[in-house]
Amino acid sequence: MIDTRDPTYYKRIKLWKDVTAEQWNDPRWQLAHLVTDVETLSRIIPLSTKERADAEEALKLSRFQVTPYYLSLVDASNPDCPIRLQCLPTIGEIEPGFGDLTDPLGEDSDTPVPRLVHRYPDRVLFLVSEVCSMYCRFCTRRRHILEHSSKQLAAEHEQGIDYIAKHPEVRDVILSGGDALMLPVAMLERIIQRLRAIPHVEIIRVASRFPCVLPMGVTSGIVDMLRKYQPIYFMTHFNHPYEVTPQAAAACARIADAGMPVQNQSVLLRRINSDARIMKKLSHELLKIRVKPYYIYQCDLATGIEHFRTSVSKGFEIMEVLRGHTSGIALPTFVIDAPGGGGKIPVMPNYILTITDDHAVVRNYRGMMSSYTNPRERDCTCSTAEAIGATLAPELAKNSAYLELVDGRRVMLKPQV
Ligand code: SF4
Repeated sequence: MIDTRDPTYYKRIKLWKDVTAEQWNDPRWQLAHLVTDVETLSRIIPLSTKERADAEEALKLSRFQVTPYYLSLVDASNPDCPIRLQCLPTIGEIEPGFGDLTDPLGEDSDTPVPRLVHRYPDRVLFLVSEVCSMYCRFCTRRRHILEHSSKQLAAEHEQGIDYIAKHPEVRDVILSGGDALMLPVAMLERIIQRLRAIPHVEIIRVASRFPCVLPMGVTSGIVDMLRKYQPIYFMTHFNHPYEVTPQAAAACARIADAGMPVQNQSVLLRRINSDARIMKKLSHELLKIRVKPYYIYQCDLATGIEHFRTSVSKGFEIMEVLRGHTSGIALPTFVIDAPGGGGKIPVMPNYILTITDDHAVVRNYRGMMSSYTNPRERDCTCSTAEAIGATLAPELAKNSAYLELVDGRRVMLKPQV
């Protein structure tokens, strides 16, 4: 992990040894010096001949762009550095994947006007920008980054706003992209101002990876603009505790101090954060900077990212270790964004073992089982056992102590150790 507490820490990299702290902390300098080619990258991170060749090959099919700030967090001595793995193009990106989909979330069929995804009843995703300060190698929307280069951005924004105005059921608008904060502030403000004037739009969410990859880009100018249009929620994206630096903390503090809740969405990424200890540490570090861990996403089936994907069981394993072992506020929801357009589906280890009309047998994080007794007066007409699918497993049907839990003669059963 790179220690960024010294404000000149980045000068250890020869390419930036003459950059002043004032320049480094200026988002305009960062954006003017984005690293976009393998040649420059190799002056920052030593790359083997094979890594260079693989990166060049991978970039025939995608774009490369990383902020100097994010690259300054790479530990050049560690080939498995989690920062490096998120930004270095590799040959895995052009190898055919198992189950790859061009439109992994089935968004095209839920796009009534350009840039707007209307899948859930009361909310829409408005892709207001098509660019990011950094192109994460695992990005679900990487095809948009390749395909789109709209000359009619403002006109398409108008179409999206019109659609929202004509749909009174939409109470929540998520401004994303790309990265919403890559828009010029005046353009972003115009969109937010127009949305705020629509009576049925209750909340606006702004989604940006700036706090993690370009924290100096969360300027007081942007924050002061956003705070005028409350309620605004800020959605961000940290994947590893090494990303939670003093600079990131300061950016999140500016947002939180302006009264905007900050929530984090992580993606489960093989070799990067697919470990319960890392995820627990990430949650704790985020809470310390007032960011609520909100979602852990199962990595989508986008083309070219199979090498980042983990099995679903890995997510269960992580959630099993988090639940009960740390505070509830540190627990994100683990979700699969269902391929083909099913939307986000929360998944978690099973804590309901059996459910009948009278009793629910549940287990805790240590395996202790308890029987909860329903009230005598029924307030639910559906068959809960059928609805939840938690019927008696054959092996438990033979266990007399367990059967006592099911019919309420016993309230608790501890596992044999
Ligand atoms: S910031 Fe988000 S949208 Fe942009 S490349 Fe990274 S994951 Fe994709």
